[in-house]
Order: sequence, then structure tokens, then C-alpha cells
Amino acid sequence: MTNLKDFRQVFEKAQESNKKIYQICEMNEAELSELPVEEIRKKVKVNLDAMKAAIAQGLKSQEKSMSGLCGDDCAKLLKMYDKQTSLFSKTYQKVLLYSFATIEQNLRMGKIVACPTAGSCGIVPAVILAMAEDLEANEEVQINALITAGLIGQIVSNKLALAGAVAGCQSECGVAAAMASAALVEMKNGTNEQILNAAALTLKNIMGLVCDPVAGLVEVPCVKRNAFLSIYAVTGAELALAGIKSVIPIDEIVDAMKQVGELMSPTLKESSDAGLATTKTGLEITANLAQKWQNSTQK
Ligand code: SF4
Repeated sequence: MTNLKDFRQVFEKAQESNKKIYQICEMNEAELSELPVEEIRKKVKVNLDAMKAAIAQGLKSQEKSMSGLCGDDCAKLLKMYDKQTSLFSKTYQKVLLYSFATIEQNLRMGKIVACPTAGSCGIVPAVILAMAEDLEANEEVQINALITAGLIGQIVSNKLALAGAVAGCQSECGVAAAMASAALVEMKNGTNEQILNAAALTLKNIMGLVCDPVAGLVEVPCVKRNAFLSIYAVTGAELALAGIKSVIPIDEIVDAMKQVGELMSPTLKESSDAGLATTKTGLEITANLAQKWQNSTQK
């Protein structure tokens, strides 16, 4: 067995051997690392446990980031859910909460699982763990889902660097959402075709998302973007489970994302030289923070 190259290859391997995509992935990893499949699954469980711990910590904390820009949105949602004035079902409430809980831990420098990156770390855990509670999916099913998510990220990364500085936020939060969509379809025991369609539908509709963080911090718009894209990921899974297909195959979507990333102006790839970072408010925040930090180093 070799490194899995593209989604077509993964799909064909899975269909030929009558296996699920996560099984192809874990067998491949086992062979490459010369470890039994059980060891691979144990390593995945370590990450799953770390995701659970980050959520548990995040749900309890209201500590703001060093910039003071973010850190208490999860608490605001919890307060609203206490009053039962939400527009959302309990399931969607949980997805939002878990996503804020995780990404807010990231900006507090807490331990998170970069999935695929730290700036997009809230999406996969929120979808897998909130939906697992709802679906009463046991730990083995959650591990299957997380392996599926990992495989999506791994194959995309064969062609497209998963970094806002290289291809914009489409390659961070966009890929995270595709990973989460695919994971959720696996958790619902969808077919391999549905899993890849979920990822494809999600990726396709996030294409072109720029990376323009205010003051160069992974906070604005990153924190709220994790929450929005968690819900978005569930939509991708829902469509695929209904049998809705992406007209453009997923491998071609990744090629198109790469092209879009290359065409994207460098000012919109994490340099904070355009977009939200250079709005009037974005620039004011940047100047104020620079002043604040300069003052603190002079004390
Ligand atoms: S906006 Fe940029 S820094 Fe923020 S999550 Fe997206 S890619 Fe990462």
C-alpha cells in the first residue's frame, strides 16, 4: 500500500474491497506506520479525548484572549439557551456551543486538536461530538467519523496547502467543514459515495473564502467563522444523505480550490493587508492593540 493519492483512488479501493472509507484509511495508516490497526485507532482516540477535554474546558471558561477581542461568546450562547429563547433546535445549539468552546480555548492558548489547523479547530469536534450525543453514537463510531474526517483533510492536503497564508481560509475553515460533513455522514452510516459528496458539496460552496484576520490575530473573523461553518458542515451532510450529489467531482473541486488560492491576492492570504483587517474598525483595533502592547513592554 502507498500514500493515498486522490479521492477517486480511495473510493475505488473502498468499493473494490467492500469497505468503508475509514477502513481504507486506517489500513493504509497501519501499513505505512507498521502498526496494527488497533494502535492507529488508539492514537485517534487520544485526539478524540483531547477534543472532548477542550470542549469541557471551553464551556466553563469566559476568559478573554490577550487582545480582549474574543473569549466570551460561548458564555453568551449558554446564557441565551438557559432562557430557552433560541431559534435553533437543541442539536444545533450544541453544535454552536461546542464550536465556540473549542476555538475559544485555542485563543486562550489552551490545548486543542488542530483539525486541520488551529484556526479552524472548532468545526470537526463540534460536529462529531454534538451530533454523536444526539445520534447516541458510541466511541467506536466517533473514531470512525474522526478517521473519515482525517482522510478528507489528508487527501486535500496532497494538492492544496492547508494554510490561510497559502490558499486563504477556504483551505482552513473550508476544509475543516468538509472534513466535518464527511464525518457526520459516516456517523449516520452513509455510503462512501455520500461521504465524498458531503465533502464535495461543502468544499464547493466555501471556495474563495479569504483569510483577512484583524491585527494578524486568529480571532476576528476566525472565532465566529468556526461557529458558522460548523452549522454549514451539517448542511453538507444533510444534502448528501438525501442523495444530493455534487455535479463536479471532489478531486476536480480541490484542483479548482488550488487554482483559486493561486489567483487570490497575497493581501487576502493572512497578511492582514486587505479585507476585514483594513476596514476602518479593523485598522483602529490594530492601532489600539499596537499601542497597548507597546505600553506594556515599556512598564
Ligand atoms: S481567517 Fe485566516 S487565520 Fe482565521 S481561521 Fe481563516 S485561515 Fe485561519
